[in-house]
Amino acid sequence: MPRTLLLKNADILVTMDEERREVRKGGLYAEDGFIKQVGPSDDLPVDAETVIDATGQIVLPGLVNTHHHLNQTLTRNLPAAQNNNLFPWLQAHYRIWARTHPEASRASALIGLAELALSGCTTVFDHSYLFQSGNKVDYLIEAARDLGVRFHASRGSMSLGESKGGLPPDECVEDEKDILDDTIRVIDRYHDAGDGAMTRIVVAPCSPFSVSEDLLRESALLARDKGVMLHTHLCETLDEEHYTQKRFKKRPVEWMADLDWVGEDVWFAHAIHVNDGEIQLFANTGCGAAHCPCSNMRLASGIAPVKKYMAAGVKVGLGVDGSASNDGSNMLSEVRQAMLLARLNLGLLPMEDTDGTPRLPPSHPSRAGEWMTAREALELATLGGASVLGRSDIGSLETGKCADFFTLDLNTLQFAGGLHDPVAAVVFCSPQASRTTVVNGKVLVSDGQIVTLDIDRVIEDHNRMSLELASGR
Ligand code: ZN
Repeated sequence: MPRTLLLKNADILVTMDEERREVRKGGLYAEDGFIKQVGPSDDLPVDAETVIDATGQIVLPGLVNTHHHLNQTLTRNLPAAQNNNLFPWLQAHYRIWARTHPEASRASALIGLAELALSGCTTVFDHSYLFQSGNKVDYLIEAARDLGVRFHASRGSMSLGESKGGLPPDECVEDEKDILDDTIRVIDRYHDAGDGAMTRIVVAPCSPFSVSEDLLRESALLARDKGVMLHTHLCETLDEEHYTQKRFKKRPVEWMADLDWVGEDVWFAHAIHVNDGEIQLFANTGCGAAHCPCSNMRLASGIAPVKKYMAAGVKVGLGVDGSASNDGSNMLSEVRQAMLLARLNLGLLPMEDTDGTPRLPPSHPSRAGEWMTAREALELATLGGASVLGRSDIGSLETGKCADFFTLDLNTLQFAGGLHDPVAAVVFCSPQASRTTVVNGKVLVSDGQIVTLDIDRVIEDHNRMSLELASGR
């Protein structure tokens, strides 16, 4: 007998399908984690093993987080790192992160993943790159399995310490052979390339200023040999651009392209400081971008040219990043910030074009397409994220796709007065917690509570370890 789930009576069900249907009194029916039918509730089977009545709620496809560092929930809001940009911010954290032991790693993953699930996120990419003090990718994967979220784990890395011209302290980096051996181990053990995969592995060296050229080349060869994706931070700050210009006489994108780090299997976190030619290179080669607006504002990194990426056909997803540079893991909040930051960027454009032609005001009808809409922001977080992670089985609610979705109550304080357009209210109004989150056809959040484990106990343990790690105990 298949495992069945029926969702019915949603005030609105947002499909994100080809026609972008928004179905009134909608629902879906799923078997063994895959959607069999989507549409008006009256057309669906009448019963199932799990039945969710979404009366008074809006249903959306599960959100996809394309960039995060779950272990950093242990160092949110560190006083020494509250008011600085990326390089000094990293230097304030490296040694503390290197003390992350297995128990702390598991607890921080559960904290970050639970917060994400409560904000409608059902697929998470985690970019961990510090594996000292016994920490292993395995602990993060186990946490994701116990909670029940779809998880893309990176076997990230840092190999270039200060003495070799890198940014991290020497004691925080690993030997390159150890990195590659462990990467092969986790791919062979965990990577599932199939439809509906709950676990995938990504090869993800940390950044241009913390790994060697050799490791970047070897990582690309390994990923292609194993058929897994490649990820790193790129063009996050002007400091990084100065670093590659000084060290390699190249801009970051040019340098990565020379190392064979472009293609459909590559996506970059941030991708803020790019020129028009580099945007076109991403479009032509299929590189994706993980846009992390909260982190970019928190660290004064800059504003990614997201509307330009979209216009050029570059794949763009959203990421909460952090958690120490956010300092939250709320995907709905990220969707809202993505829309707001794109609008701020529009308002900051000079009154004249580069050739001296006066620009029309942003509200002129001819510039309507430059405004990021609420539905576009939701699309980045669903279909956009799915394409960035190389998945065609998530990101929309359609027959044959994964049964990953979340619901929000509509008759709430946050949405009061904003229900003229309930879909847009999800982005324009203050983010609220998910009422129900379902991944792979299984309920993970019910009545606004995590139901797969006792998260209150995890919070207690996590906070104790957070204080211990920061104080060096
Ligand atoms: Zn990051």
